[in-house]
Amino acid sequence: MVELKTETELAVMREAGRVVATALATVREHAAPGVSLLELDTLAAQVIRDAGATSSFLNYRPHFAPTPFPGVICASVNDVIVHGIPDGYRLRAGDLVSIDCGACVDGFHGDAAVSFTIGPPSAADATLIEDTAAALAAGVAAARPGGRLGDVSHAVGEIGRAAGYGIPQGFGGHGVGRRMHEDPSVPNEGRPGRGLPLRPGLVIAIEPMFLAGGRDRFVTDPDGWALRTADGSRAAHAEHTVAITDDGPVLLTVV
Ligand code: MG
Ligand code: MG
Repeated sequence: MVELKTETELAVMREAGRVVATALATVREHAAPGVSLLELDTLAAQVIRDAGATSSFLNYRPHFAPTPFPGVICASVNDVIVHGIPDGYRLRAGDLVSIDCGACVDGFHGDAAVSFTIGPPSAADATLIEDTAAALAAGVAAARPGGRLGDVSHAVGEIGRAAGYGIPQGFGGHGVGRRMHEDPSVPNEGRPGRGLPLRPGLVIAIEPMFLAGGRDRFVTDPDGWALRTADGSRAAHAEHTVAITDDGPVLLTVV
């Protein structure tokens, strides 16, 4: 069931989004050669705790997962697409890192992700990251009242396919609210003019994930969480939680 949010609820979600954006900025600021993914997780946990919020990710267990998630961020390096468990791996110059984070304030969640490199990116990584961010921006721009969910999915997928990237099937955006993942599902490909009508009060996470190798195939790590490109190519992921309002799309996961 799709739940529309009131103005008051959107204001609370904006606070949750602010916490997520602050945590992501803090992680990005500290991500450097030699820093471990666990250290980044600890930093994000501190930001969430200091804000009086709680982690949406810690102990989260969706249907596909064999174990509760052990961190407050997903840290997905190089060929890991999403859902990387933060561990003792120490970052190296040239790594392409995607960090995903969720926080809950007064019962409402925010969910966002960003991709960047450790040190200067290769030309290919820079393009992959830029295209993923551009797809997110296009999806957000399509999230307007009077439109359809398919407009958002189409806007995202069109950019990825035009650039020749793979798009993993079965993973994408989602409604956000009292639960981090709620209806509707927001696929990263779709047909314009189709699907759920977009109404003010609808809140969705839009999250393109593009695979540089051009194939859609991915494999799941033995931990049951991390999704990796099957061809070993790099992947990027970007995400914002977005409210559809009478005035158009409003990003909730910004500082
Ligand atoms: Mg996320
Ligand atoms: Mg999400």
